[in-house]
Amino acid sequence: MVIDCRTKMVGLIGYPAKYSLSPAIHNGAFEALGLNIVYSVFPVEPKNLEAAVKGMAALGFLGFNVTIPHKRAVMPFLHSIDGEAEQIGAVNTVVISDHQLIGYNTDGVGFIQALEDGGIDAAGKNILLLGAGGAAKAIAVALALRGAASITIAVRTLSKGKSLAEKIAGLGVKATVIPIAPLTDSKKPIWYNENAKEENFIPPPDIVINATPVGMTPEEETDLIKIETLPQNCVVCDLVYGPQKTMLLEKASDAGHVVLDGSGMLLHQGAKAFTLFTGINAPLEAMKKNMAVAL
Ligand code: NAP
Repeated sequence: MVIDCRTKMVGLIGYPAKYSLSPAIHNGAFEALGLNIVYSVFPVEPKNLEAAVKGMAALGFLGFNVTIPHKRAVMPFLHSIDGEAEQIGAVNTVVISDHQLIGYNTDGVGFIQALEDGGIDAAGKNILLLGAGGAAKAIAVALALRGAASITIAVRTLSKGKSLAEKIAGLGVKATVIPIAPLTDSKKPIWYNENAKEENFIPPPDIVINATPVGMTPEEETDLIKIETLPQNCVVCDLVYGPQKTMLLEKASDAGHVVLDGSGMLLHQGAKAFTLFTGINAPLEAMKKNMAVAL
């Protein structure tokens, strides 16, 4: 690829700049389609965020992705924010068009697309979500907007779970917060308590999603949930994409559950961002190939 005076830029801002698969995914896609666009990573200290955002607009960037710690902090510097990103309260993709900066969040919709690739429709499903951080928020809002029946949020820090549950309940979906410890420790399912009052009843999950970093370091992975407590036809998803098969997914798969790793969400959040930046359908096969090499 020739970089010349017509080359357009996109990139990722975060701090500190961690290893990211996004350059491999996006640059592979630009190359596959012969687009004169380059994707790079820019470490931006929080105190420089506004200057960096204005600088990218002034330099004619097509847009940029946003990661920790700027996903929320970037919002005041944008001209408008897409409805789903507004609901999530975080932006991971910014499009710059006619000097206007528009914020989006492609994490939730990327996860939904990964589910659909696996033949799974979120509508009407009871979800058990482990964690209430940035990724969990995006996914919970996306699932609620697509008609999930209920979302049970299992957390270490109850206050974080409660604020997410309030957001989900505000979207008209039953949301319950539970401490994660009983799932980790007990071999007894917590969802068949016939004596529970209506508001405390936990529906047996159709889909379990690990949205914590547990599993990223295989030698340190511990059980977040006892697989033997899950209903037979329950789908188990892990947002962790490195390693692709966490211990959670291995155990779930051995027990006969359909499993989904985090690579599908990673691919599709990138593909949605690609389309927002370029207005072109993403070359999924090229993106997948480059992602597999970089993983
Ligand atoms: P985050 O904002 O830091 O949130 C992490 C959540 O996990 C918090 O709720 C945290 O609870 C909880 N947690 C951390 N360690 C835990 C433990 N040992 N036991 C129970 N809960 C624990 O992180 P994030 O950005 O949401 O990312 C979460 C995971 O999703 C990471 O593995 C990340 O790589 C992955 N991810 C994947 C994709 C993809 O495209 N596949 C996209 C985004 C994120 P506390 O609040 O109590 O600390």
